[in-house]
Amino acid sequence: MNIVSNPPDGDQHIHIDSVVDLAYGRIRAVVLSGELAPGTKLRQVELAEQLGISRTPVREALLRLAAEGLVEPLANRGFRVADLGIDAVLRRLEVRAILEPRIARLAAKRRTERDLENLNAAIVREKQAANGVAAHDASREFHVALARAAHNDELLRVLESLWLVEVGRRLLSRRWVVSEWPAEDIEDHRAIMDAVADQRVEEAERLVAEHVSSAVDHWDSDHYVSESDPVPPDVTDDAR
Ligand SMILES: [Zn+2]
Repeated sequence: MNIVSNPPDGDQHIHIDSVVDLAYGRIRAVVLSGELAPGTKLRQVELAEQLGISRTPVREALLRLAAEGLVEPLANRGFRVADLGIDAVLRRLEVRAILEPRIARLAAKRRTERDLENLNAAIVREKQAANGVAAHDASREFHVALARAAHNDELLRVLESLWLVEVGRRLLSRRWVVSEWPAEDIEDHRAIMDAVADQRVEEAERLVAEHVSSAVDHWDSDHYVSESDPVPPDVTDDAR
């Protein structure tokens, strides 16, 4: 594996934080690209050599990625690439189905004018998106903006970590784009934004519950399409 296209300038003095940032950014990009199979061991010595930095910031970067669920720590202090496949996406969607309706409730109570502007901006961007990746990013932006409107940093952090992996599955998002998914997604987002704007708390919660559940169905039907006896995980009941 080669994760360095432009090695850092050796003469440059770089503060430790930015060295960690650099290592984090490079390793993250490789993991999200899907080039490395799930379970691939990430060798810290090798990574440090390739990045031209010491092992300490590499380890820091890997710990950060582990917190995001992109790599998994091993018993021997090593790390391996996490499974970012469809099952991992579904597991995260399950958590979102539980969390996001409550987030919407809080957002409907606490939203500011600025929050509404952010929600609207995300919808506009999704509508204007030229391709699946841009649409997916704008869609994520809407959900993050909704979490931000709840004005609880911990909730925001948890939600962002749940979306990170999906961002990495951009290839999968292209499947949605060939269907009517973007139009439906935008329509849902608009209805959610209106409910939040009017502080219709119950409705905001219900709309988001339905919205996230339909995303689960999307992925799920795709996942189980070739199975003779599909047994999809039922998250909808728990979400209500
Ligand atoms: Zn959405």
